[in-house]
Amino acid sequence: MPYDLHTHSTASDGTTSPADVVREAAAAGLAGLALTDHDTGAGLVAAAAAAEELGLVLVPGVEISTGHRGRSVHLLGYGEVTGTAPLADVLAGTVRSRLERLRLIVTRLQTVVPGLLLGDVLARVPEGVTPGRPHVADALVAVGAVPDRDEAFRELLAEDSPYYVGYRAPQLLDTVRMVVAAGGAAVLAHPGSRSAGDVLDADTVAQLAAAGLAGLEVDHRDHDDATRRRLRGLADDLDLLVTGSSDFHGAGKQNKIAEHTTGEDVVERLLARPGPAVLLGRTS
Ligand code: AMP
Ligand code: FE
Ligand code: FE
Ligand code: ZN
Repeated sequence: MPYDLHTHSTASDGTTSPADVVREAAAAGLAGLALTDHDTGAGLVAAAAAAEELGLVLVPGVEISTGHRGRSVHLLGYGEVTGTAPLADVLAGTVRSRLERLRLIVTRLQTVVPGLLLGDVLARVPEGVTPGRPHVADALVAVGAVPDRDEAFRELLAEDSPYYVGYRAPQLLDTVRMVVAAGGAAVLAHPGSRSAGDVLDADTVAQLAAAGLAGLEVDHRDHDDATRRRLRGLADDLDLLVTGSSDFHGAGKQNKIAEHTTGEDVVERLLARPGPAVLLGRTS
């Protein structure tokens, strides 16, 4: 039975609680899943408890925001890595920077959406939750400026919009090294997506592979057929594992849980690196 190795909960910008993400995974017939919230492992304990109850395997995970040549690149880290030094401090720094940046985005947006209140945005990001543009999008929906998150991103929150502000994140290569040093497995998230795709050329991926990168997320809705073929070829050349996953965000995005999956054989090879201790919630 398959696994979905990329999902988000209310610990970051998903709209479903960690336990409910696990319930949805069970309802979709998955053997297991990874919860990979942006820059935090805050949802993992609740997800592990739900997984144990339902007899699913929970792979602890995190989607780490990194930078490479001025672009934002997302790196999936599997294993119990979020509490290890120096990664824990790095992630805390990213979350702090994301919060400061949220305030700046709101200040800029108030020039065109005066009804947008900072307090309303901050109320959507309680302590322990990684702030992101989707939280601003939800506040924009609440004041009636846009009908949904998609429209908020298209009209006001895109990276090339005048209201966009970036945030501080660690370098991609350093981050691969930190995940590997923590005993985890590092996989490039949607490496063919718009922003990251431009800077993740074959030479860069080869350099990451030499640093211990374990795999590429190939089957993802952001990738067309030609991109998937190219990435599969690259994985073949560099002896990297190939994963598929949904990038589920609850009601916040179209992505359906288990719309792309990864076979158990690949999951086992991925986790053979950190060892069996990374499997939480295994009941058999
Ligand atoms: P941020 O992390 O603040 O830079 O915001 C990027 C996040 O917003 C990504 O993790 C996406 O999941 C989410 N996102 C991007 N585009 C959309 C969209 N059109 N609708 C909903 N969520 C989106
Ligand atoms: Fe997200
Ligand atoms: Fe991502
Ligand atoms: Zn994601």
